[in-house]
Amino acid sequence: MKFRCPACGCADLAITAVLQLDGDLLWDEIAVQTVACPCGFHGAAVYEEERRGRLEDETWRHHGYRLTDDQFIEFSGLLAACPAPHDDACTCPAHRRLGAHDALGMCVHVRALGVPPQSGFPMGH
Ligand SMILES: [Zn+2]
Ligand SMILES: [Zn+2]
Repeated sequence: MKFRCPACGCADLAITAVLQLDGDLLWDEIAVQTVACPCGFHGAAVYEEERRGRLEDETWRHHGYRLTDDQFIEFSGLLAACPAPHDDACTCPAHRRLGAHDALGMCVHVRALGVPPQSGFPMGH
């Protein structure tokens, strides 16, 4: 599945790695992803899904985040070093760092890299 790139506007933004995280106070399922476009853009994305409501009420959210080169190197290095990216019970440094919960019980995900959560762009087609 490809998404619209916020840098060049083409629909070639691809998910290149995924780390499945434990749910938090609001979301049942959380995954962080590295995303990259042939134009050179690279960043992070967070997919969140809530299944607590009625089945037909399932809600989800998918946001991308621009990263500096240093942040992207750190982020992709963390993901690459995880031995079990699809296991939300994994306790490797990537899972512990990105899957940590803040004082409000919310997953820190990209905030662990110093990325402000309000800086995200919607992942769309
Ligand atoms: Zn692009
Ligand atoms: Zn891990």
